[in-house]
Amino acid sequence: MSATIAAQAAYLVAALLFILALAGLSKHESARLGNAFGMLGMGVALVATIVLAIDGDISTAGLGLMAVAMLIGALIGLQRARGVEMTGMPELIALLHSFVGLAAVLVSWNGFLNVEHEPEGHEAKALEALGTLGIHHAEVFIGLFIGAVTFTGSVVAYLKLSAKISSKPLVLPGKNALNLGSLALFVALTVWFVITPELWLLIVVTALALALGWHLVASIGGGDMPVVVSMLNSYSGWAAAASGFLLGNDLLIVTGALVGSSGAYLSYIMCKAMNRSFLSVIAGGFGIEAPSGSDVDYGEHQEITAQAAAELLGAARSVVITPGYGMAVAQAQYPVAELTSKLRAKGVDVRFGIHPVAGRLPGHMNVLLAEAKVPYDIVLEMDEINEDFADTDVVLVIGANDTVNPAGAEDPSSPIAGMPVLTVWEANKVIVFKRSMASGYAGVQNPLFFRENTAMLFGDAKARVEDIVGAL
Ligand code: NDP
Repeated sequence: MSATIAAQAAYLVAALLFILALAGLSKHESARLGNAFGMLGMGVALVATIVLAIDGDISTAGLGLMAVAMLIGALIGLQRARGVEMTGMPELIALLHSFVGLAAVLVSWNGFLNVEHEPEGHEAKALEALGTLGIHHAEVFIGLFIGAVTFTGSVVAYLKLSAKISSKPLVLPGKNALNLGSLALFVALTVWFVITPELWLLIVVTALALALGWHLVASIGGGDMPVVVSMLNSYSGWAAAASGFLLGNDLLIVTGALVGSSGAYLSYIMCKAMNRSFLSVIAGGFGIEAPSGSDVDYGEHQEITAQAAAELLGAARSVVITPGYGMAVAQAQYPVAELTSKLRAKGVDVRFGIHPVAGRLPGHMNVLLAEAKVPYDIVLEMDEINEDFADTDVVLVIGANDTVNPAGAEDPSSPIAGMPVLTVWEANKVIVFKRSMASGYAGVQNPLFFRENTAMLFGDAKARVEDIVGAL
């Protein structure tokens, strides 16, 4: 008994450590410490869970199974985390969310098989005596639904982010009616299941939720994927909380609620950053190429050499660098940091402008720049830098595309109309580093590349920045 009390106290400590982790991760300076708190919290939670299992008279075989599962999980986790490139993080995260969803589905099925399927069994009798059997029915059903939606939704997000399927939205006829109809059916089935908890109802809701998760994310287009990833993060939290209720595990409930609410808040911030309403993201369709989009003649683009770019930079007073996904692909952050310190040593005012959805992960660019030891105080958010572009001599757009697309601000017919962007074109000169004239993640052409004050510096961003550093 005393071991159980100690384990419950450890759960409380772990929950506090998770809260400290979230607080730490909200700032660059404390992010490492935040990560350490999170790891410590998870370590405490694992030990407490094992202690609770032993105190609850788990069989030796059960303990052995637990040890094997933990070992396999730890080995896979370690191997994936060591090998993953920064550019592969979003898809890894999406895949991890799918595991949480799958786990919630399995926990719900397990709950059903132990209780509803065995009405004369010891667990069902205990719940009946407490008068909470009906609550258990609802927990099984709701947990299963959230888990299954999270599972297939995250698998589709993984496939889209890793470019294994097209990021274009799937547009089925009456797709909103399909989503709303599925939700209404779920509510009706839940009521039915609480009254008569039958197996076939569970099978139907599993199929319904798997299909809904798939459809929900498949019908969301490229430009909205950032919101989808954080939305799935939130769902995975609620799925874990639902499992916590079923397993009677307080820490899982607290942790699930923390992940669920912080994911929901992150989705809200990202929606605001992209000037989108949450409902319109769920309704999907953003990221469909406008019918006339590819036919528009934007004129000719100009090119520049690394040598000429170096001369322009050498003569500039103020330079702003706006990095994007291409900087991550090219791993150009190190030469970019070197270029920054060279220019600053010459007295040039160099700053960075970071779009909230640049790259493929919230904070993607900040992490890369911090890794390359670019000072935090010159790395500014979009809102902090947008007014300064008009006074900037040279902007270096390094592997960014959608986040600097003037169509977001100027063309109401564009698929990304209304998305706030970095207004780089207001600067005196813009140099765009990319390998071709290809479009960005949202699949939309970028009129910036054809503006008079823009010059393209083609090639791999890392090699081109190194060329400039060499020329300087
Ligand atoms: P984009 O994805 O719009 O564009 C990146 C550009 O980088 C491409 O046009 C590509 O052009 C160029 N590029 C790729 N590799 C290299 C290389 N080795 N060297 C030089 N250039 C390269 O990037 P942004 O960061 O501007 O925008 C992010 C997009 O991703 C937005 O649409 C956002 O909604 C979406 N997104 C963001 C998420 C987030 O949380 N931040 C999550 C999921 C999606 P080329 O092929 O010609 O070289």
